[in-house]
Amino acid sequence: MRIEHDVLQDFVEEIFKAAGSEPIEAAIVADHLVLANLSGHDSHGVGMIPRYIDNIKAGSLHPNEHVELVKKDGSILVFDGRAGFGQVVAREAMAETISVARETGLALSALRNAHHIGRVGTYGEQCADAGLVSIHFVNVTGHRGLVAPHRGADARYGTNPICISLPDTTEEPRIILDFATSKVALGKIRVAHNSGKELEEGLLIDKDGNASTDPGVMFADEVGSLLPLAEHKGYGLALMCELLTGAIGGGGTIQPKNVRDTRIINNMLSIVIDPARLTEMDYIASEMKAMCDYVRDSPPRAGFDNVILPGDPERAQREQRRADGIDIDEETWRQIIEAAASHNVTL
Ligand code: NAD
Repeated sequence: MRIEHDVLQDFVEEIFKAAGSEPIEAAIVADHLVLANLSGHDSHGVGMIPRYIDNIKAGSLHPNEHVELVKKDGSILVFDGRAGFGQVVAREAMAETISVARETGLALSALRNAHHIGRVGTYGEQCADAGLVSIHFVNVTGHRGLVAPHRGADARYGTNPICISLPDTTEEPRIILDFATSKVALGKIRVAHNSGKELEEGLLIDKDGNASTDPGVMFADEVGSLLPLAEHKGYGLALMCELLTGAIGGGGTIQPKNVRDTRIINNMLSIVIDPARLTEMDYIASEMKAMCDYVRDSPPRAGFDNVILPGDPERAQREQRRADGIDIDEETWRQIIEAAASHNVTL
């Protein structure tokens, strides 16, 4: 199934409006999901719709909710997402954090209890749009864990993503590093499962802790686990996401005494910095350009294309998919159509 992004955008907006969102919310959520597909991250694109629709029906995702500032202490902000659409409440929280960072040069915000915030790079890009540097740590709670700790045989936490974002300079486009701390995001396993594809080795283990290449082990009754990125290093980063957002940020960790059903709750700790308060922007631009060129000039190793920078793949995918359309596998499309039909929406 190949679909043009603007047709998809309209369809997704209709689905969320029918599910109870105000038009502005439906547009923000649709825009976020379609941009994730356009960026090549199908795991965080429109394939999430069935889960969101189910969670609205279950009462664990609250349409038309807005972020609440629960505490402001100097340039430290604490927000409650009130289980609203993460795409809306995280964007609102970031907008306030950005305005404090512009004033003071540095802001720290903890967002608690947001429903799934989607592609975290979106919030890095929001800061880059404002000319600011940002660092984001995220945990994922409200349901069982998905990732086994290094040396562990079963899942104890989520795919806890991290994003570090640098704004455009006069010499270089923005650099957006944004990834899950598992070897792959669960959504990528879902896409493989829905497409009937086997996975490469080393990404997951089955319910007994044995290596597996079957994406189905993540959707079986007795589930397996994803493996952490870079063994103890990815595990360490994921644990820090959990503790920074869930304990220190106050949003709650995934430890089993906290609520678990099918909801997807994200807590995010963000640090937003005005780079101009540290160094002259001209120096930043020329030094970044020199370093990025130096890295890019490394001759490609056998079997690889040229060296690129974080953010480059998403830019390239956006250009290509805007022109050619977005491919959606049959099973994912069937699930989206089914979710839409449950609200009498058709393409
Ligand atoms: P990924 O493995 O595709 O890595 C993406 C990052 O690596 C990007 O910054 C990209 O620019 C960079 N990159 C990719 N290839 C590169 C190359 N050859 N050279 C240099 N840089 C390169 O991403 P992922 O781990 O599958 O995560 C996908 C998305 O899922 C992310 O947007 C993440 O925020 C999101 N996510 C969200 C949640 C949540 O709970 N909300 C949980 C997990 C992941």
